[in-house]
Amino acid sequence: MTTFRKEALQRALTRSVEVNQDNGINVSEIFSSNVFGKEAMREYLSGEIYESLIHTINEGVTIDRRIADQVAAAMKAWALSKGATHYTHWFHPLNGATAEKHDAFFSPGEGVRSFAKFEGSQLIQQEPDASSFPSGGIRNTFEARGYTAWDPTSPAFVYNGTLCIPTIFISYTGESLDFKTPLLKSINALDKAAVEVCQYFDKNVTKVFATLGWEQEYFLVDEALFYARPDLVLTGRTLIGNASAKDQQMEDHYFGSIPERVTAYMKEFEIEAWRLGIPVKTRHNEVAPNQFELAPVFEEVNLSIDHNQLLMDLMSRIARKHFFRVLFHEKPYSGVNGSGKHNNWSMATNTGKNLLGPGKTPKTNLQFLTFFVNTIKAVHDNAALLRATIATAGNEHRLGANEAPPAIISVFIGEQLTKVFNDLEKKVTKEKMSPDLKTDLKLNIGKIPQIIFDNTDRNRTSPFAFTGDKFEFRPVGASANCSPSMIVLNTIVANQLINFKKDVDQLINEEADKDEAIFKVLRNYIICSKNILFEGNGYGDEWIKESKKRGLPNIKDTPRALEAYISEKTRKIFKITNVLNDRELEARYSIEYEIYTKMLQIEARVLGDLALNHVIPTALKYQNLLLENVQGLKGILPDKEFKKQSAYQVELITEISGHIDSIGELVQDLINARRKANVIEDFKKKAVEYCDHVKPYFEKIRSHVDKLEILVDDELWPLPKYREMLFIK
Ligand code: ADP
Ligand code: MG
Repeated sequence: MTTFRKEALQRALTRSVEVNQDNGINVSEIFSSNVFGKEAMREYLSGEIYESLIHTINEGVTIDRRIADQVAAAMKAWALSKGATHYTHWFHPLNGATAEKHDAFFSPGEGVRSFAKFEGSQLIQQEPDASSFPSGGIRNTFEARGYTAWDPTSPAFVYNGTLCIPTIFISYTGESLDFKTPLLKSINALDKAAVEVCQYFDKNVTKVFATLGWEQEYFLVDEALFYARPDLVLTGRTLIGNASAKDQQMEDHYFGSIPERVTAYMKEFEIEAWRLGIPVKTRHNEVAPNQFELAPVFEEVNLSIDHNQLLMDLMSRIARKHFFRVLFHEKPYSGVNGSGKHNNWSMATNTGKNLLGPGKTPKTNLQFLTFFVNTIKAVHDNAALLRATIATAGNEHRLGANEAPPAIISVFIGEQLTKVFNDLEKKVTKEKMSPDLKTDLKLNIGKIPQIIFDNTDRNRTSPFAFTGDKFEFRPVGASANCSPSMIVLNTIVANQLINFKKDVDQLINEEADKDEAIFKVLRNYIICSKNILFEGNGYGDEWIKESKKRGLPNIKDTPRALEAYISEKTRKIFKITNVLNDRELEARYSIEYEIYTKMLQIEARVLGDLALNHVIPTALKYQNLLLENVQGLKGILPDKEFKKQSAYQVELITEISGHIDSIGELVQDLINARRKANVIEDFKKKAVEYCDHVKPYFEKIRSHVDKLEILVDDELWPLPKYREMLFIK
């Protein structure tokens, strides 16, 4: 065996597991201990400043400059007490990672320690040298600077010796260059629109916030094996590799116990997560070998997304200590399940009510139905836009591949609510409603049980499923920042609620009473959006046919899916809700295309290199061995015997030769296709060219390489195999 693979295997197999003995850890004691939350604020701020800051946070207003210095001083004192030496503005640029630029609290002077400035102005605003973040053309050279500004609704925290201050990132011309700015705006838009609608039911509601609970899937792979696979290192996924004889077909991983080495890793990052206030709750094995999942308790969506980004970073960092690598890629291994990040979404009020949770009375249930139906209508009207938010090079391997929800957006609501819909549709008509009818309808919706358990969705094939008291948007990719999906969901629902209010008010003006108006508008919405409701198996071919008949979009690739970002309809909705202007939308749009193209460019090059530098030389070596052997046989055997006895080897040589030949040719074709694509200037046409004419070579080359992997002597094969990467733990 080549020494590299052999060494990697040896190292992977002889890791000694250091089992963390921290079993007695008191979660409530350490929870949020590294967060500048209410408790720390109360301790470090005067009562007056504390109240003022809390007001700023709750109302989402800009911070009073006069208190900023004191808040900064308190934050610094607190951070120093936690051992922090640096501070940074922490933000989410559009490349999907998180960014930070660290400044030291202290700068060593001559003999004395002088303090670097960290005052109100440094807290509130910074100018990172950010010209290398993607901006989609917004920051021209003459306006090359952007600035980061404090988001007080997400608390500061100490991470890895640094005080991190969550911020937004905007250009000097005021356009957003990050995910957080439009997210906060979408949260605002939803708040406003939903509060207005709540007034029909409950005058005490003054604030509505979106909630998110994500479920993060990931793979673990031993670090030594990871390093022996250039494709994993450079692209996050394996571009070649023959399927392991056994992978997930026995379905024995999902319910299996978590191996000790993995448990030790999980325990350590969970404890760190708790310190950072991330409410991590459940962990379990996933379907594929070496695949796992974790989920927190849900939170307000802005905080929840910050926590997800932070946790992904934390998981990667702690993994290194355990000689693991975390793979967040959506499809690290072909032929086994990929990784997603379900986004559980709902809306909550300041009065403590979950707006998507059925209540105890007909009145609260009419409110529930209102938000429920409006969400479905929003998804129906904007399915293509939602689809655009999950369109990435990585996720393209999952969607519609019989493991993740299909690329067709549909909504699952379960049997009981389907009945309620049918009832409303049948009984409510254009005519004036009789008191009896209203009572009857209210009684019926009063019967919606508070907890809906619908086992028919256990197969989890629906991309947008109602799961009792929240919707679960399932096709989000595991490596993604949840923001694009959450921005769009908040925004389209906000827009829909604005329209709902208009429609209801109009009927009230036409002298319907309030309940009647609501019933009539809801019925109308149910009829308009009915064709997106689907309760069956979303993975089946039947559904592809059926959805086509219904006229639902089935957009298979990323470049085509992204188009929905700049449709007239999208622009209008983002403008009405004030979430993104045209320029910002177009910038995002072009960045998504560029990221897609770059990803495929990198994959194409890595695949070419692997094929030419690893695979072909190995196959040639083995072929030579065979050739030598055949020659030798020829020397000692009589002609007739020789023919018979060398037949298998000769066939093998021919077969290997054929694959080598095909790979050589296909790689050349791939290079030519890339060259052709690379000269295209238009970012969209370029991405389409990569998608249509470069990407198809990946599978073709791979199929020959994977055949060689079976034919060539295992001793010679240089790259760790699937069975090794998936089963060593
Ligand atoms: P499953 O695996 O069946 O989808 P989990 O219990 O793993 O269910 O995940 C459910 C997720 O839904 C959790 O992250 C939880 O916090 C989240 N969740 C529960 N209620 C709400 C809500 N009202 N809003 C948003 N997320 C929620
Ligand atoms: Mg789920």
